[in-house]
Amino acid sequence: MLGRLRELGRDATAALKSAASVVELESIRVKYLGRKSELNQVSRGLKDLDPEERRSVGRAVNELKNELGALLEQSKERLESAGEPSSGLDLTLPGRMPWVGKKHPVTRTYERLESIFGGLGFDVALGPHVEDDFHNFDALNIPPEHPARDGWDTFYIDDDSLLRTHTSPVQIRVMESRTPPIRIIAPGRAYRNETPDASHGSEFFQLEGLYVDRGVRFGELKGVLIRFMRELFGTDVGLRFRAGFFPFTEPSTEVDVECQVCHGSGCSVCSGTGWVELLGAGMVDPRVFEAVGYDPEEFTGYAFGLGVDRICMMMTGTDDIRLFLENDLRFLRQI
Ligand SMILES: [Zn+2]
Repeated sequence: MLGRLRELGRDATAALKSAASVVELESIRVKYLGRKSELNQVSRGLKDLDPEERRSVGRAVNELKNELGALLEQSKERLESAGEPSSGLDLTLPGRMPWVGKKHPVTRTYERLESIFGGLGFDVALGPHVEDDFHNFDALNIPPEHPARDGWDTFYIDDDSLLRTHTSPVQIRVMESRTPPIRIIAPGRAYRNETPDASHGSEFFQLEGLYVDRGVRFGELKGVLIRFMRELFGTDVGLRFRAGFFPFTEPSTEVDVECQVCHGSGCSVCSGTGWVELLGAGMVDPRVFEAVGYDPEEFTGYAFGLGVDRICMMMTGTDDIRLFLENDLRFLRQI
């Protein structure tokens, strides 16, 4: 019996000393010191031995257990100091957060605008990004010789098709296919041959609005725009209506909103003026109605167009419009 114990001791010592990982060490512990190990069976069989043998074997078993226990600790320390973790699982590490995607800030701004105008009774209408000359220019009272074409020159696909310079062609398409009353908003991208800077891009986001019916007046346009701005920026926001010019509306107005980044004290977004031009609007020019076959004596209406990325800049305090198209997650995650 004592001989067998010595043999077990030799084998276990060799195994413990050569263990290459904590996992391996654990299986050695189970084999030589675990509940079902031979050593444990000898230990449990002690009571059946005669007193003298029980004493000597008992002492040898205890010594071996102590010896192997100490060796086990040493081997564990050796492996841990060599960089082997005590197990594959470190319960002190913080959990890994799942990556949750979010909507782009411009998309969220569109949703906000659509919700506000939806509440005012406007439906969403969409149109093609590649337009023909008639819908993008002619029908909007911008004939080939009109100087407005120079400022809006764009990306031509061929002589008659181009990337739309504004979302206004959607107005024309809607009026061609429906009869008044019409109350729509047209969200979407527009394209112009611009040199990009902090507040201009060659690709940008607009939202167009159109209301046509009998007896529509300028006061209604003003009321809708004030209601919209207050809903978006708060009831105490500063607003400014200035006379403006657009070929497709008469009279026309440009609407400025108090800069939401500096609150009127002047910053780079508002070029130090404290005001940001957010939209252009006016009463639909009778020549536009003639182009779509409406009788301008019977119908009147108003239209407005706003820069959605400008609004997004105001709402997020962003000072460079180009950031919205770069899709740099370091920027997007901040919003
Ligand atoms: Zn400002």
